[in-house]
Amino acid sequence: MQIEDIPCLRCGTCCTWYQPLITDEESERIAKYLGITVEDFWEEYADTRWPIQGKHLIKHIDDHCALMKTEGYQHLCSVHSVKPDDCRAWQESLEKKECQTGLLKVWNLKIENGEVVGTEEDLDKFIKYLAEIT
Ligand code: SF4
Repeated sequence: MQIEDIPCLRCGTCCTWYQPLITDEESERIAKYLGITVEDFWEEYADTRWPIQGKHLIKHIDDHCALMKTEGYQHLCSVHSVKPDDCRAWQESLEKKECQTGLLKVWNLKIENGEVVGTEEDLDKFIKYLAEIT
């Protein structure tokens, strides 16, 4: 299996390692999507430990972005269609350490010489999962 054929695995690693820093405009966009006021959005989702003029960090709950939700093997953004610009700009790739970490953590698979490798059983499960999400 060649790594360039593989889409975002929805492993949640990038939403676990990073906190998006969002502008007031992005806060308003997400608050509107959630049907709450921007003040309520900041109250519930902003990490107030690092105040930055005109920007807010999204806080983490249980070691992951407060906006991430988990469904089975999949870790999804609950505001996907209006998610922060930084998250939108993120490009998944099994050449990145984040995606390789998720591949190992969730599927027990590694990348070697540009290919996904692991036991036959783990590879079978992974191929079935890919068929579900593509
Ligand atoms: S806003 Fe969405 S995509 Fe961005 S880190 Fe949080 S859960 Fe992940």
